[in-house]
Amino acid sequence: TMKAAFIGLGAMGYPLAGHLAKRYETLVWNRTFDKALAHAKAYGSRPADLSELGQADILFTCLPTSLEVDEMAHKLLPYLRPGTLWVDHTSGEPELARKTAQVLQEKGVSYLDACLSGGVAGAVQGRATVMAGGSAEDFARARPVMEVYAAKIVHVGPLGSGHAVKAVNNALLAVNLWALSEGMVALVKQGVDARLALEVINASSGRSNVSENLFGQRVLSRQFTNTFALGLLAKDLGICAKVLEAAGTPAPLLRQMREFFEIAKREVGSTDVDHTAVARLLEQWSGVEIR
Ligand code: NDP
Repeated sequence: TMKAAFIGLGAMGYPLAGHLAKRYETLVWNRTFDKALAHAKAYGSRPADLSELGQADILFTCLPTSLEVDEMAHKLLPYLRPGTLWVDHTSGEPELARKTAQVLQEKGVSYLDACLSGGVAGAVQGRATVMAGGSAEDFARARPVMEVYAAKIVHVGPLGSGHAVKAVNNALLAVNLWALSEGMVALVKQGVDARLALEVINASSGRSNVSENLFGQRVLSRQFTNTFALGLLAKDLGICAKVLEAAGTPAPLLRQMREFFEIAKREVGSTDVDHTAVARLLEQWSGVEIR
């Protein structure tokens, strides 16, 4: 029977590893190990130390950046065995991921960059989206396993393309979040009811996931529920800037988003808050609340 391992039980990893454990023998590891123990209790996974993780047939990572993934790859190197497939769910960097993949390849371990979308809600419901880069063979091996928690799984190209597509996707999220926040504060300042404006935009051509879901659930509700950190989105914009740089195509808007979110991080004074803190920042700058 197939053995899975999951490293990084954060906001995304915790529920994903839970779905895996319902179907496969699943080893779990987390830096703060209490989370692995809690996970075992909740889902019947098995907390394991690093040396045991190497026994997995398929090994997942979901860590903040490619740096942590590369670090884990080096730590695990002595325990890895040929034939293991490393599926990286981190929203990472194409370039560093290719280096990590090369190091793993020396041990006969193949690597797939398999970025996630759909947020924590999608992960919990087992309806995540996956955009994967790597070989067709590795993708074919990983796909049925990822189907336990993903509703849409697309092989977008060779190694690194999953990370690249994800970075562009998240830059689009950033554009929509920033733009809708600007528009809404302007409307509210002039006396328009935020709920009515949002209702009609969501039946019009300016709608997006930000207007249809995020804004109602987190901004109008004043909950600003923290499931995706501002710092992580800013990180994705840095990756997108590198992707654009590598392509050498003109991209004045997407490039600019990185600077916008660096400013937001400084002004908000925290990277741990939810990314919708951007709406609150624009409210502060404008002296109105979006309501
Ligand atoms: P979290 O901050 O919730 O979790 C991060 C995880 O990484 C934790 O398990 C943490 O361990 C671990 N970790 C952090 N630093 C290290 C380290 N140096 N060594 C080992 N483990 C480490 O992040 P998310 O789950 O939100 O995000 C994970 C990845 O998924 C990111 O790349 C993010 O951009 C991406 N993503 C997030 C989405 C979301 O909606 N949240 C959606 C799609 C993608 P510990 O518990 O010890 O802190």
